[in-house]
Amino acid sequence: MRLTCGCCGDWYSGKQDTDHDRGFGLCPSCEKEQAEQNDAEWDKAIKLLADALGEKNREDFLVRPREEQIFIVDKAIKDGILTWKIGG
Ligand SMILES: [Zn+2]
Repeated sequence: MRLTCGCCGDWYSGKQDTDHDRGFGLCPSCEKEQAEQNDAEWDKAIKLLADALGEKNREDFLVRPREEQIFIVDKAIKDGILTWKIGG
């Protein structure tokens, strides 16, 4: 279906998702851009948490795979240890 991108306002064809109002969505190029921004935000948060850790824990944290680092950061945010939000 034809949708309006809520980010750049362009028309594009895609699927309606529940995150957006009817007729609106996120076009593929904005979606890609947002994913990259989120990635950059995760990088920042990972660094933030690493900086807050003691030396031994930091080394242990930094050698983990990125998905695991994101999981830990996400948990730290949910537990209120780390205050940070995507795009904030
Ligand atoms: Zn767009």
